[in-house]
Amino acid sequence: MPATLVAPHAPTTVLVEELSAADRVVALYASDMPSRYRLQGPADPNVLGWIAQGATRLGREETWRRASYLLGHRKLSMRAMTTPEIDRRHKERFPSTRRLDLMESMAATSLLWVRPVPATRNHPAVIDGPCPKCDGAGKLWAIWVIDADADWTEEGYGPCWVCQPEGGAA
Ligand SMILES: [Zn+2]
Repeated sequence: MPATLVAPHAPTTVLVEELSAADRVVALYASDMPSRYRLQGPADPNVLGWIAQGATRLGREETWRRASYLLGHRKLSMRAMTTPEIDRRHKERFPSTRRLDLMESMAATSLLWVRPVPATRNHPAVIDGPCPKCDGAGKLWAIWVIDADADWTEEGYGPCWVCQPEGGAA
């Protein structure tokens, strides 16, 4: 007979102030919030409850991962650069555009009620699939302008601006 019993895994509650705007979109999408919900006055506690519910349901890591992919997809779609593969993976996570649009607006509004704590940052945008710009190489051959006035340029590889984190930091 085993000396110890393993307690069933209890999900850790995630606090709303620990979640960035994109995290909150993901959390709301995964929550029980109805897709036709209307705000009940200022600082609607139901919405905050659903943010915590969705993030707790997915877990912190999965919420962050989906938020990074959401930002990556947004970055590409703003430039009409998504591929069928990247769109397909996005659709798997967020089948309803209408629900996603609503959650985006609810998440943005919730930032006014509960500010994220300073340690909370948006996660880097991550492309879920082969990068349509560099084909997954992560770098681009380009002509870099060193000094426009002096007509001084150099050719070489630089980090891909589409799929590599901005500023080169991980
Ligand atoms: Zn790239």
